[in-house]
Amino acid sequence: MRFMWVYLFALSTILMACSSVNSNTDTNTYVVEDQQEYQAIANKLVAGDTVILKNGTWTDFEIILQGKGTEDAPITLKAETKGKVILSGESSLKLAGDYLVASGLVFKDGNTPSSAVIEFRNKDVLAHHSRVTEVVIDNFNNPDKQESDYWVAFYGRHNRLDHSHIAGKRNKGVTVAVRLTTEASQQNYHRIDHNYFGYRPTFGSNGGETLRIGTSHYSLTDSHTLVENNYFEHTDGEVEIISVKSGKNIIRGNVFYEARGTLTLRHGNGNIVEQNVFLGNGVPHTGGIRIINRDQVVRNNYLEGLTGYRFGGGFTIMNGVPNSPINRYHQVDNATVENNTFINVAHFQLAAGSDAERTATPINSVIKNNLIVNEDGKQPFTAFDDISGITFSGNVANTEVLAQIGTGVATQEVSLTPHDNGLRYPTSSAVTAGVKHDLSVLSKDQTGVTWYPKTPASVSFDSGKVHQVEANAIALQNAIEQAASGDILELAPGEFTIPKLVIIDKTLTLKAKQEGQTQVSFERTALFEIHDGGSLKIDGLHISGQASPDAAGNSVVRTQKWGMLKNYRFELINATLSDLDINHSFHVFVSGKGAFADDITLRNNTISNVTGDVLQLNKETEDLGIYNAEYVTLENNTFTEIEGALVKLYRGGTDESTFGPHFEMTNNKVATVGFGKRNHEQASVFLHGVQVANITNNTIEQSRPLVIEHTVGEPKTHIINNVFDGTAEPLVTELRVKGPHTAVLQNNKMINQSAE
Ligand code: CA
Repeated sequence: MRFMWVYLFALSTILMACSSVNSNTDTNTYVVEDQQEYQAIANKLVAGDTVILKNGTWTDFEIILQGKGTEDAPITLKAETKGKVILSGESSLKLAGDYLVASGLVFKDGNTPSSAVIEFRNKDVLAHHSRVTEVVIDNFNNPDKQESDYWVAFYGRHNRLDHSHIAGKRNKGVTVAVRLTTEASQQNYHRIDHNYFGYRPTFGSNGGETLRIGTSHYSLTDSHTLVENNYFEHTDGEVEIISVKSGKNIIRGNVFYEARGTLTLRHGNGNIVEQNVFLGNGVPHTGGIRIINRDQVVRNNYLEGLTGYRFGGGFTIMNGVPNSPINRYHQVDNATVENNTFINVAHFQLAAGSDAERTATPINSVIKNNLIVNEDGKQPFTAFDDISGITFSGNVANTEVLAQIGTGVATQEVSLTPHDNGLRYPTSSAVTAGVKHDLSVLSKDQTGVTWYPKTPASVSFDSGKVHQVEANAIALQNAIEQAASGDILELAPGEFTIPKLVIIDKTLTLKAKQEGQTQVSFERTALFEIHDGGSLKIDGLHISGQASPDAAGNSVVRTQKWGMLKNYRFELINATLSDLDINHSFHVFVSGKGAFADDITLRNNTISNVTGDVLQLNKETEDLGIYNAEYVTLENNTFTEIEGALVKLYRGGTDESTFGPHFEMTNNKVATVGFGKRNHEQASVFLHGVQVANITNNTIEQSRPLVIEHTVGEPKTHIINNVFDGTAEPLVTELRVKGPHTAVLQNNKMINQSAE
C-alpha cells in the first residue's frame, strides 16, 4: 500500500509538470488593465486562455491576438463588460494563429494606423478558425477621406465575423473585404453572419463598397464564403453594396433596407444568391441583383420598391466581352433565376451594357417562375441586345412584356396580400410564381449587438428645440455654441453685424422670426463656415455683403477649406441676398476641396448683385471621379445680376461607380447672369459629368447659356419648358461618346434672339 502511494505521488508530480507545458487543464484567465500588462502576456497565450480587457477607454492600442487555440479550447480576448471597452485613437486588432476569439470591443473616436481596423492576420501569420463577434466599429475613420483602409480584412480560412455592428464608414475603402491574395486564403469557407451594416454615406467616387469578396485578379478562384442573415441599412457608399469577385459564395437571408446600390456578381462563377430581401421604399438608386459570369443561381429572393436603373437597377443581367480579360466582363452562361418576386421594381434589364466591347449576350440561361408586379402598370423589361440565350418559363407579370420574352412571362392581373412574414404574396393561390411562402425575413434586432444603438444616419433639420435669439451678434454666437444638433435658432427682427467667422459643426437652422425682418451682414471674408458634423439651413434672413471686407473672394457660406470627412447638407430658403459686390469674386456658397454635400437646396430666394458664383462646386479638378455634391436643387428663386454662374458643378474622370451628381432646376427667374469677365466657363449654369439634370419651367433672360458637358455613365439631361429670352440655347456636348448629344430639349421657347 505504501509503495502504491509513493507511486501515485510521483505520477501526479509528473502530470503536473506536463500540464503546465501541455496546457489543456492548466489554462489562465488574465485580467489586464493597461497595454503593458497585455504585452507581458501576449506572447504566452495558449489554448484555453482568456484575456479580459478592463472597462475603460484604451487609446492607441494596436492589439495582436496571437497563438494556437484548439476547437475545444480557443484563445479568447474579451471585454470585461461588453460595450464598455472602448478602443480609440490609433487602434487596431490583428488575429494570427488558430481558434482565436475576440468579442465585446468598441472601436470609436479614432482610426486604424494600419491598413485595417480588424485583420485576420499579423504580417505573414494568418488566422484560421477564428472569430470576431459582438464587436462595434463606429465612425472609425481616417481623417483623410481619400486615405484608404478596410474595417475588417479577412485572410486565412474558416474565419467568422458575426453579430457585429459596423456603421459610419466615410473614408475610402471597402468596409469588409475578403482577401484571396495567397493560396492559404482561398477556398476559405469564411462566415459573415448576423451583422448590422449601418449607414455608409455616399462616398462620391469608387471605393465605397460595404462588402467585397475577392478581387478580379483572383476571381477564377473559389472563395466559399457564406454571407448570411446580415442587415444592410442605408449602405449607400456606391453602386456596389456587395461586390462578389470570386466563386462559390453563398449570399443568403440578408436584408437590404433602403440601400442605394446592388448586390453585384461582378467576377467569379457558381455563386448562389437566395432568400434575400431588398426593400427600397422608392428611395432613389435602390437596387437589387446584377449578374455577370457563369453558373450563377439567383432564387427565392424578394425585391420591392427599387427605383435604380442601369448598373444600379433592381435586376440586371449583363452582356459580356468575348474572350474577356479577367478584369472586364465575362459572358453570362448557365444562369438560373427562379422563384423571385419583383414588386414595384422599376427596371429589369437584360443584356445590359451592350456596346461595341460588350457583345457576348447571355447564353444557356433560364428565368423561370418569377413574379413581376408593378402597381403603376409600367412594364419594367428592357432588352439591350439579343436575349434568345435566355429561356423564359412560368413567369407571371401584371404588365405587358417585351415581345422577345414571348410566352415565358404570362400577363395577368395579380392582387397582393401581406403575409405573416411582412412580405406581399398573390392573393390567389393559383399564382405560384415568386418567392416561397416560408421565406423568413430577418429583423434588424437579430443582427449586431443589443447594447449599442442602431441610430439614424444623420440628424434632420428642425428636429430639435426652438431657441429665441436677440438681435445682436453675441447673442447669436452664444446661441450657436449652446444649441444641440437639430435645433432651430429664431432670430429676432433687427440687424446683426457679425464680427467673426461663424463655425457650424452641428445641424442647425437659423430662421428669421419674421421673414425678411432680420438683416445680417458680416465683417469677415465669410459669414458661415461648415465644419465636420455641420449642416446649415438658413430660412427667411436678409443677408447683405455691405459690411464685408473690400477684397476679392468673399463668400456668404463656405465649407472647411480642405479635409472634410463627413458629408453635410445646406439649405437656403425664403432668403434675400444682396450687395455681394464690394469687390470681385464674391460668392454665395463655396465648397472646399474634399468636401461633399449630400444635398444643397436653394428655394424661394431672391439673390441679386453678386460678383461671383452662387454655388461653386468645382473643386475636384484631378478627374479622379470625385465631386462636391450629390443633389443640387434650385427651385422658385429669382436671380439677377450675377457675374459668375448660378452653379458650377464638376465631376471629372471616367469611373462609373457613383450615382450623382444630380441637378434639379425648376421655376426660377434668371436675369443677367454669367457676364463677369472671371466667369471662364461663360455659362449661367455649368455642369460637367453630372449624371442626372432636370432643368424645367425656368425663365432665363439676357444671360449666358447653360453649358452642359456629358462625360461617362449615360447621363440623363432634360431641358424642358424653359423660356430663353435673349439667351442663347443650351450648349450640350458629349466629351466621351461619339455622336450627337443625348440631352432631351423639349418645348423650350427662344425669344428675343439677337443675331450675335
Ligand atoms: Ca466599386
